[in-house]
Amino acid sequence: MRVLILGPQGSGKGTQAKRIAAVRGIAHVATGDILRAAMAEGSEVGQRVRPIYDRGDLVPDDLMIDLIRERLEREDGFVLDGFPRTLPQAEALDTMLDAIGKPLDAVILLEVSDDVATRRLQARSDKEGRADDSPEAIRNRLRLYHELTEPVVERYGADGMLVAVGGEGFVEEVAAQIEDALIRIGVSSR
Ligand code: ADP
Repeated sequence: MRVLILGPQGSGKGTQAKRIAAVRGIAHVATGDILRAAMAEGSEVGQRVRPIYDRGDLVPDDLMIDLIRERLEREDGFVLDGFPRTLPQAEALDTMLDAIGKPLDAVILLEVSDDVATRRLQARSDKEGRADDSPEAIRNRLRLYHELTEPVVERYGADGMLVAVGGEGFVEEVAAQIEDALIRIGVSSR
């Protein structure tokens, strides 16, 4: 099964993506995790993205597209989290999945208000101290979501592929709604 999960920062995307992947034994492909690993390793890519990441800006499309292509070619089933974030990334994803014969089965949108998202990110910042959870970077990331990623949501909506799920409840409630939505659109529970 191949699923794309979309939603603003703080929507609980990562948590839900991990769960969907674990239940089905498929890969959780999270671009934020891939970038954090590259930075921790101190690789060339990691050094290049660090200042961009810390500001909460977006890493250039070309670099992200190369990183993700390499990864998706290796995986049959996956939950994709954090990509695509821009229309050029969405176009590149469609083209690459077509080329390797691995179309998406479902696109899930997790919806939360900016207020809830901001509160959750601030709470995470107090706990984990992620560099891009400073108040300025949080504002910047949510602004970029509305400006650049919402058009991606509209694109999948227009394709009729999108199921929206409210993300403001407890983790288990949201998870149950996602499973219901996947069953409704005919994607099996495993
Ligand atoms: P969040 O969704 O809370 O921003 P992520 O861990 O998904 O957290 O992403 C953290 C950062 O990694 C982003 O702010 C951005 O700098 C970079 N990043 C992740 N995915 C992408 C992408 N698809 N395109 C550009 N930059 C990305």
